[in-house]
Amino acid sequence: MSNRQELLSAAAHTLSRAGDIALCGHVMPDGDCLGSMLALGLALRRMGKNVYLFSPDPVPNQYATLLPGAAGVAVEVPGEYAPEVFVSVDCSVPARLGRFKALMDSSKKIIIVDHHAGGFNFGHIYLNEPSAAAAGELVYELIDLLPVEMDADMAFCLYVAINTDTGSFRYDGVGSHTHRITARLLEKGIPAGYANKKIYEEKPRVCLQVLGEVLKTLDLSRCGRIAWMHLDRKTLHGLNARDEHADGVTNYPRMIEGVELALFFRQLEDGSYKVSFRSKYFLDVNKLASRFKGGGHLRAAGCVMNGELAEIKRQVVDAALIALEEEGTDERHY
Ligand code: 5GP
Ligand code: MN
Repeated sequence: MSNRQELLSAAAHTLSRAGDIALCGHVMPDGDCLGSMLALGLALRRMGKNVYLFSPDPVPNQYATLLPGAAGVAVEVPGEYAPEVFVSVDCSVPARLGRFKALMDSSKKIIIVDHHAGGFNFGHIYLNEPSAAAAGELVYELIDLLPVEMDADMAFCLYVAINTDTGSFRYDGVGSHTHRITARLLEKGIPAGYANKKIYEEKPRVCLQVLGEVLKTLDLSRCGRIAWMHLDRKTLHGLNARDEHADGVTNYPRMIEGVELALFFRQLEDGSYKVSFRSKYFLDVNKLASRFKGGGHLRAAGCVMNGELAEIKRQVVDAALIALEEEGTDERHY
């Protein structure tokens, strides 16, 4: 049996024996962490478990209205509660559980379900498969081992998880396995076309206004291989927008011909800057972001930095130029 199978079996065994289970995703939750968590939560509830769903940040409106069960996700840490089993979903480091890290520490057993590069073990059962295109793939395999039938709601949540983390099945991590799982999900009769319109074809108007403002800040390195943009709180508040309205703008500069790396510097409520890294053909951005105490995947990563925006930009762009030099210039990595 492969390590992945052994860990999946161990996780299924632990979950089957538990009475109450807390599931928690990462700060600034995305479709993968929410869809994965909700699907697993639905399966465990079907098995008669007491399930608690937590998120360190509120569920973005887009997913709150799309995903079944999203209204049941709590953002406050409950007092006087120590979970029997705590499942961390799509988190590479404990810090990304935000204020729920203490809840995890109070639990008897910790299961990690993750697919990030360079994560480290912070649980009792550490299921981290960077080869999985989404945490949703692993949750699909986990539910398959539980004594419960996958229903349309669970399948829909997993479809959204896998679809969003693969940029609609476009990114490098997508393999035949991803499509096989997705086919099984579609066989449950889920409204996939509806999900795709809701995810990609429909946004509040303010998202386009934010995008417009952010695109005005677009800048390119002299070599034309790095593009970056920024967003500060003043601009965000001036548009009456929230953080979630800037989700997705990160990818735009990457589509410029010749650009290998796109960077997006967005100011958070506490004044720090969240830096998003997106590469196209070859640059390992997990490695690059880890130089600034962040991480992620090969082609998408992030970190949080403090200081003046100009100085943060200079540090990141300088490091990126060196990384590009080191990793070569061949863009045709197929
Ligand atoms: P995004 O730029 O969309 O927020 O994040 C891209 C990827 O990088 C995600 O897989 C996310 O988990 C990871 N990531 C984003 N910010 C951080 C961070 O501050 N620390 C770590 N370790 N990973 C991050
Ligand atoms: Mn993910």
